[in-house]
Amino acid sequence: MTKIVKNQLSQMLAKFTIGAAAAIIVASCGQSSSSEDEKINAEYLASGGDGSNWAMTGFSYDEQRHSPLDQINESNVDQLGIEWFADLPDARGQEATPVVVDGKMYITTAWSKVFAFDAATGEALWNYDPEVPGETAVKACCDVVNRGLAYWKGKLFVGTLDGRLVSLDAQSGDELWSVQTLDPASNGTITGVPRVFKDKVIIGNGGAEFGVRGFVTAYDVKSGEKAWRFYTTPNPEGKADGEASDSILAKASDTWSGPDKAQKGDWRESGGGGTVWDAIVYDAELDQLYIGVGNGNSWNHGVRSAGEGDNWFISSVVALNPDTGEYIWHYQETPAETWDFTATQPIILANQMVDGEERKVLYHAPKNGFFFTIDRKTGVPISAEPFIEGVNWATGYDKETWRPIENPEARFYKTGKPFLALPSALGAHNWHPMSYNPTTGLVYIPAQKVAAAYIPASGLDAQRKKLGFNTDVSNAGFILPDDVNFVRAAIAATTGQLVAFDPRTGKAAWTIDQQTPWNGGTLSTAGNLVFQGNALGEFNAYSADKGAKLFSLPVQSGVLAGASTYSVDGKQYVAFLTSKGGAFPLVAGYAGGAANPIPSIPRLIVLKLGATGELPALPEPVKYEWNPPEQFGDAAQIADGEQSFLRYCMVCHGAGAVGGGVVPDLRKSGTIADKATWKSIVIDGILKDRGMVGFSSVMDETQAKNIRAFVIGRAEQAKKDDSAIIAP
Ligand code: CA
Repeated sequence: MTKIVKNQLSQMLAKFTIGAAAAIIVASCGQSSSSEDEKINAEYLASGGDGSNWAMTGFSYDEQRHSPLDQINESNVDQLGIEWFADLPDARGQEATPVVVDGKMYITTAWSKVFAFDAATGEALWNYDPEVPGETAVKACCDVVNRGLAYWKGKLFVGTLDGRLVSLDAQSGDELWSVQTLDPASNGTITGVPRVFKDKVIIGNGGAEFGVRGFVTAYDVKSGEKAWRFYTTPNPEGKADGEASDSILAKASDTWSGPDKAQKGDWRESGGGGTVWDAIVYDAELDQLYIGVGNGNSWNHGVRSAGEGDNWFISSVVALNPDTGEYIWHYQETPAETWDFTATQPIILANQMVDGEERKVLYHAPKNGFFFTIDRKTGVPISAEPFIEGVNWATGYDKETWRPIENPEARFYKTGKPFLALPSALGAHNWHPMSYNPTTGLVYIPAQKVAAAYIPASGLDAQRKKLGFNTDVSNAGFILPDDVNFVRAAIAATTGQLVAFDPRTGKAAWTIDQQTPWNGGTLSTAGNLVFQGNALGEFNAYSADKGAKLFSLPVQSGVLAGASTYSVDGKQYVAFLTSKGGAFPLVAGYAGGAANPIPSIPRLIVLKLGATGELPALPEPVKYEWNPPEQFGDAAQIADGEQSFLRYCMVCHGAGAVGGGVVPDLRKSGTIADKATWKSIVIDGILKDRGMVGFSSVMDETQAKNIRAFVIGRAEQAKKDDSAIIAP
């Protein structure tokens, strides 16, 4: 529906409802409709209620993603079937958890769009398109995703990829207010979920690799007026910002290299990173806010901070005063972070018995592979133990200082030698939501084992550019040899694992090995169940205590997002989104795409006991016939093209130009055969509305031509391998 038509309709409805509302007021003797609107408030979100609503993406303020509902349980979960589904636009990553209030479901999709449905029948109620400009996509490292919205007293809040925070009326979908939360000229983007507490709504953003300085901002829920802002890295010019972070950042600046140490690409130029792109949790018990802070920029600590200092608050959990935004405490999980080890992963609040005493704790499983139990009052860890096997950047944490005991080989910029790290930039755990069952005491982590090589950058990789991924780590680590067996071995070593971690023992109680990484978020229920979809197109349920697989449903596409559960008229439902997308299939085309050729189908699926719905049949797969154009260019030109491809193209179009099934596989694109078309796209930007901007600000026509020569070479190689490189 166009905005104009929608506005006209809502004006008409407003006229009709004036009379109707008057009738209701008379009939209900003062029980106004606003009391219903007020229902989802701080008191409600503190507990999450009886489970009939799933009122925020994390279920309740403690974000345990655990439902008290048990109608669906381990004895009957195998009778789940599809009650309804809705196809969605945009075959890009779908990362949102459905929110359900009073029988209505609200989801966000790729490009920050919002859809409302009747949660029982699937009837579409309204939708909202913030009309994010397509060219914003080039600022998003990890697909044009959105992880969900917030509901508060009859209003919805959504962050848009281009940096707006928008409030909508939950009944009509009408826009109530919209604020731009970041400088549109910056490289910041929003993919995360706003959180609401005490009539304030808070949002952060992403974009560290593209050169931004991290911050979160709180706004008044009614007016959208800014309440406070907290920056996570010091002001690059050494000035006060006039924000809540000023006094602590004066201290934090001692942990960054001084102005005399400034060198090319350092934090003063990049902003230092430290973006808060996912975890923001409100602690209703202690009236504190926790934010998970991202990686540094450049990644390379030797360049970012001249190899000096811990660089507060990179890779830290920071506690803030929710009223003022002032600093309370922080714990830095990875001091002097240099591997893209963000601490942005989801945070869960819980109470845990420790040495006979109940402690208020938070659980965190960040990218770096260690599971942290942190005291919420003091910010001091209680334990830090690995949650996957094979972590090699550190052997553990010192139990006095709570600093990592590092493997000296891991600081590649000091040794000057490559370091093959596990975990790596994609993390032992990424944004995929984890859940916690207070009965079993276990945390269900969508974990993964993805190794990568870290090599100090040289040449083009060491130059800071306005467009593209700036890490000051060599992209040569992404070059795979033309050796089918090597590539197969690399794919086979890249796996996922559902880890049921016991914070009381510091070990997994049970694990489920998975063939690929990048599997869905988890949902825990009082039915002794853990639900998780996976990248290979199954939606599964396991017993929460033992990890027995009790249910598996083929869903045709991958599942990245977390599921939610709710009830309407006494019937329990389970809802989740399908798609392929996010960082992994974009950058790791071999493993995420070619080795997992499942299609990207953007769809909302809702399950119920005894339901028998079926998804539409998929078309028969057609074998692709390789027909690359004639190779041009000499070895030096192709090598130059590879350098530029790695630097500017790979993050979206995949290592080795192997597409992961989300954006076009350039090896198969007709554009590589035609130099004029190629130039019009790569240099002139004729496809910018579809997310592919022109790169004339960072490359000349010769570089663009050499990239084309490189991609033709990759298509030639694929023809030689006949895609056998993938099929095991
Ligand atoms: Ca990052």
